[in-house]
Amino acid sequence: MGSKFVDFAVYVALLIVLLGLINMTFNLHRFAFIGEFLILLVLMLIALIVVVGMRNEFAWSWKLLKVFFALAFLDMLLVYLLSPSMPGMFLAFLFAAVAGFFIALFNVSPKKEAAQVKKTYKPGKYIASSTGTKFHAPKCYWAKKVKKENAVWFNSKEDAKKMGYKADDCVK
Ligand SMILES: [Zn+2]
Repeated sequence: MGSKFVDFAVYVALLIVLLGLINMTFNLHRFAFIGEFLILLVLMLIALIVVVGMRNEFAWSWKLLKVFFALAFLDMLLVYLLSPSMPGMFLAFLFAAVAGFFIALFNVSPKKEAAQVKKTYKPGKYIASSTGTKFHAPKCYWAKKVKKENAVWFNSKEDAKKMGYKADDCVK
């Protein structure tokens, strides 16, 4: 699934869910209407933040998206219990909320992988920690334990040794 398509599917689901909730809200009686209208405003605000987050490709926007669809789902159930009208439309809106939730759920993993690829980017042949005494091949277990902010990279064993580091067993 291409990212553009996923984004589009999410926007469609967001729109259907919001329109559905608006439609359901305006079928409510006065007292329930005021309460539901406030919930609707909050959901719209969350949706707006999600869309802005997605446009800027922030990782948190997908987490917030899951929250949005989960809340929308619960809210729809609530509204339906308050005013059980038009079960067909209600089910369609509910389906959009569930579909949106699962799109958000499954889209989180590929984005995480992309972030990990960036983390293993190697700006040198050997790595040491500024707080440690040994230098390692990047594949070494200990190399992966080196914190990003402490990482020191070398292009040769000689460079590392000059800086006072000793070769770990992982360095051939
Ligand atoms: Zn090592």
